[in-house]
Amino acid sequence: MNSNNIEITVKDKLIGLFQLQIIDSKIDEIRRLRGELPLKIQDLEDEIAGIKTRESNFSKEIANLSKQVDDKKAQIKSAQALIKRYNLQQKNVRNNREYDSLTKETEYQNLDIKLSEKRIKEYKSILSQKKLQIEDTHKEIADKVMDLNASKLELDAIVTETKKDEEKLQIESDKLGNVIEERLLTAYARIRNAMRNGLAVVSVDRDACGGCFNKLPPQRQLDIVSNKKIIVCEFCGRILIDKSIMDKEEENEEELDFDI
Ligand SMILES: [Zn+2]
Repeated sequence: MNSNNIEITVKDKLIGLFQLQIIDSKIDEIRRLRGELPLKIQDLEDEIAGIKTRESNFSKEIANLSKQVDDKKAQIKSAQALIKRYNLQQKNVRNNREYDSLTKETEYQNLDIKLSEKRIKEYKSILSQKKLQIEDTHKEIADKVMDLNASKLELDAIVTETKKDEEKLQIESDKLGNVIEERLLTAYARIRNAMRNGLAVVSVDRDACGGCFNKLPPQRQLDIVSNKKIIVCEFCGRILIDKSIMDKEEENEEELDFDI
């Protein structure tokens, strides 16, 4: 009779811990959901800043190239003016040498004009490329800003929506925590803190610990099934429960994801 009482007590403790784990995992899930969005928002803001830097570099390059085109155009104009002047001067030369010299100058200026025209063509070709690139950055920025705004809205919605759920779950968690003996609750909290996925209570799955997946010795498995004492995994330290406890409890829970 006495041993039967102890058996029920340990089982109750395990059920209590398991229920607490379910509630706490739900709280974890809410925090995780919210936790990724601020990071995403930060990433998007960084990316947008990066693209804007690229955009401003393109703008500078475009301005620089446009100025070079203008310079070359001015150079052509002054060469043309010189040619005009040489042609006039040729009408008043005193000898052949002066005439030839002016012809050479004119040829030189004509070459200079050709060279400037060639450069202008090159600059314009680069300019049209840069203009396409800057258009791309505009599109990229517009896309990212759209994504950013959507993420911000999503985050706001999640915060508003989950705040109540989280508070409710926290109250449930505290309530359950109050009825679990302190020593056990402390152990549970300690294990939970040590685990990246926050799972302190796991079931045995295919002869292995559901937390670290190490195979459990047969005797240990029998001990777990008997629900007579609280057994922890010798590999990861998590509290192990028999699946049958879970199945019973699962009926009352809509969603149970222990593979997180
Ligand atoms: Zn384990």
